[in-house]
Amino acid sequence: MKDSSYLKVIAIDGPAGSGKSTVARIVADRMNMIYLDTGAMYRAVTYYLIRIGFFESKSSDICSILNSLKLEFNDSKILLNGKDISEEIRSPRIDAEVSDIAKRKEVRAFLTEMQRKIAKRGNVVIEGRDIGTVVIPEAPLKVFLTASVKERARRRYLQLRSKGIETDIKKIEKEIRKRDEIDSTRKLAPLVKPRNAVEIDTTNLSVEEVVNMIIEMGKERFEKT
Ligand code: C5P
Repeated sequence: MKDSSYLKVIAIDGPAGSGKSTVARIVADRMNMIYLDTGAMYRAVTYYLIRIGFFESKSSDICSILNSLKLEFNDSKILLNGKDISEEIRSPRIDAEVSDIAKRKEVRAFLTEMQRKIAKRGNVVIEGRDIGTVVIPEAPLKVFLTASVKERARRRYLQLRSKGIETDIKKIEKEIRKRDEIDSTRKLAPLVKPRNAVEIDTTNLSVEEVVNMIIEMGKERFEKT
């Protein structure tokens, strides 16, 4: 991937609820770039595995299952074998299962390759957990977003409530802590701040403030490359 170092790519990593998706989507829109949500890809695979009864069947042949699924992006929607599953992948059940699926070597290899192919074309804002460390470490701008666990739980709670999903904030906090633990301690591509990434603690910042900071840095970096 060395050859893509000149490409216009903004890599945004961070834990659940740090504001990645909201911020990345707006930055992409304002900078006329494509937005790629890699968490949605891990969620889509998890959704598919649940739907086909993978957990009950204890099947080990995950590679052939992965090869039978087609993921597409259309605006901000994610399609699985042609079906829009953008809403379904945000359920509490997927929240609970996704990090265990994302630990698997076959799943990571499959999705990392797909993500690199898209990013190689350039002009992409790509967000996830391992973008600046593993997927595109040579991105000209790497950002690591953080926020306190309490604030992240509050954001997720409001997001679910706005969709009519009633839940308990303490339960969300527990789930976020568990996901942080799995994501940052796994062997493959753990969630860590990438080298040379700019860290932004969003706890007390507005979306607009974070977006403006990233756009400013993006413009500056892309002028240099
Ligand atoms: O970003 P989001 O919270 O939707 O991601 C869901 C899960 O997908 C994460 O908790 C993590 O386990 C996994 N993930 C990952 N690598 C990425 C993006 C997401 O392992 N690049």
